[in-house]
Amino acid sequence: MRVVVIGAGVIGAAVAAGLTRRGAQVTVLEARAPGSGTTSTSVAWVNANNKTPQPYFELNQAAVWAHHQLPGDWFHPTGNLECAVTDEHKKLLEARVARLIGMGYAVERVTARRALALEPDLVPPPPGTEYVYFPTEAYVQPLRLLGRLLGEARDGGATLECGAPVTGIESSASGVKVTVADGRTFAGDTVVTCTGRWTEEVAGLAGATVPMLDPAVSGTVTNGILVTTTPVPARLSRVLTTAALNLRPDGGGRILLQSLPLDRLADPSAPVPEAVLTEIMALLPGVLRATEGASVERAVVGQRAMPGDGLTVAGFADAERRVYTVATHSGVTLAPLLMEEVAGEVFGEESALLAAFRPTRFADGTAGPAPVPARRPGQQ
Ligand SMILES: Cc1cc2nc3c(=O)[nH]c(=O)nc-3n(C[C@H](O)[C@H](O)[C@H](O)COP(=O)(O)OP(=O)(O)OC[C@H]3O[C@@H](n4cnc5c(N)ncnc54)[C@H](O)[C@@H]3O)c2cc1C
Repeated sequence: MRVVVIGAGVIGAAVAAGLTRRGAQVTVLEARAPGSGTTSTSVAWVNANNKTPQPYFELNQAAVWAHHQLPGDWFHPTGNLECAVTDEHKKLLEARVARLIGMGYAVERVTARRALALEPDLVPPPPGTEYVYFPTEAYVQPLRLLGRLLGEARDGGATLECGAPVTGIESSASGVKVTVADGRTFAGDTVVTCTGRWTEEVAGLAGATVPMLDPAVSGTVTNGILVTTTPVPARLSRVLTTAALNLRPDGGGRILLQSLPLDRLADPSAPVPEAVLTEIMALLPGVLRATEGASVERAVVGQRAMPGDGLTVAGFADAERRVYTVATHSGVTLAPLLMEEVAGEVFGEESALLAAFRPTRFADGTAGPAPVPARRPGQQ
């Protein structure tokens, strides 16, 4: 089978790898360079923690396990420690913990002493703080995961065309023809669009309706500020989540910071203002010791790939089953699972896990763009 995969983010790379595993002849067409989209601006926390409804939770939970089956030095299975100080956060956390335990998710309520044993440089929060440890969660270095997946695809014979923005997709009963900006065409039996936040326009080239939230107008639902510090001598081994700040190691002593409340100041059309960086950096010494000398090494506004109803899109978008579309938030978590499930579907094996996420839900009116709530503690 010949398959054209559009997009070389973590999802396109995973799908290409899964397809080559099954013996497909794969061409990956990438508008810019691999990882130049949302994959390079991700917290990359692997979790199913605050994912609803049930089918979306199940998809993410299966994906967490898929990561554990794909070990490598980009993968850090050190869990997530969440600390709730305010009454509001405690209430949200308590409700989420009860729900997750009911669904068989690994959750441990821990004492302050155990929290400090996990993260010795945690600034001891006030008495009465609730601590919950999620031991199966993890974080990855997203570009290294992408490299792993793309490498497998290449080793399996896939070819990668960079600087090749797709401008046309024609499908018929006999196959697909994909055109790129310089006029070259690529023929296949199937095309898989893995174009993240550009999915509405790319799937639209094939006549498919996949509404995506527009980062320019959807505020904090799609836009998030990420700050990487300079290296600091602080001990931090895992994802640490609080109401004000999420953090994780970012290689060589750097720390990646995300403040969901401050995401209201994210503007994807401009660099992150100094005043916002100062505010985010000021939060760090209140959470982690030995970070007093930290400064900003990198600051970006990440733009989430968010389908109109906030949930994953995966499935054939046309009656001839020539055009398959994948678009999702939490794509770093989902990639190793989608590698198998999407490749299987392209080869005709229906995935039960993906049944609730068909792109046709938009075209046939069973789902429409719905308000996606603002990010809450326990989300990324
Ligand atoms: C602030 C923030 C925090 C996040 N935190 C997490 C987290 O903790 N855990 C998690 O699991 N997920 C997280 N995510 C989400 C995750 O990063 C994304 O879901 C994932 O990276 C999407 O990957 P992708 O391959 O679908 O998209 P992308 O990485 O955007 O790749 C799409 C590719 O398609 C290419 N493309 C677009 N149009 C065309 C065209 N016409 N022709 C050819 N190529 C084209 C682009 O150039 C791009 O390389 C976060 C995202 C953000 C913004």
